[in-house]
Amino acid sequence: MTTEHLAPAFGDAPIASDEEMRRRLHEFLGAPIPISPEAMRAALENPAYALRLMEATGDAEQLTELLRAPDGGGRETSGPGDGELLAHAAAAFARWAKTGFAMVARPVYQHRLATCHACNHLGDAPAERLVYRLLSNAGKEHKICTQCGCFVVRKAKLPTENCPVASSTNPQESRWGEPMTQR
Ligand code: SF4
Repeated sequence: MTTEHLAPAFGDAPIASDEEMRRRLHEFLGAPIPISPEAMRAALENPAYALRLMEATGDAEQLTELLRAPDGGGRETSGPGDGELLAHAAAAFARWAKTGFAMVARPVYQHRLATCHACNHLGDAPAERLVYRLLSNAGKEHKICTQCGCFVVRKAKLPTENCPVASSTNPQESRWGEPMTQR
């Protein structure tokens, strides 16, 4: 997906219609086929399926397979800490869904990402962790925030996410320069 498509929706994004939500998710995923109402319902009701969609971002073949068979659900994972990370990712997806899959404006996204790229907490996803192999889109987006475990290129697009670390100059703000409030 290109950043040209990011909507100016930071902060108080309105809840979108079902059709608009499906359009936004389609755009975010770079899906080759539309998001059907059945696939959208599965993504909202089944965190494992939602995470498989996220994992397949930009992968036309895998997305087509998933979107044509939304009843296929998720897959089992294992390994120390993986359950916690998947739960975190699922909760982030659920928060994002409540905004109607809104995305931050392009300048906000660019600022967030530039901050992450200059941050000492940016790191590589541990290759041995199953959950990262599942969620890393075949290794194409492998930089994570080591403080929260999120892939920064995805996290930075979502208005419901914030940097978890306070600014060194203003403890009321995150390193992204946004209020340190719960989201
Ligand atoms: S989210 Fe915050 S702590 Fe994490 S890498 Fe980005 S700037 Fe650093």
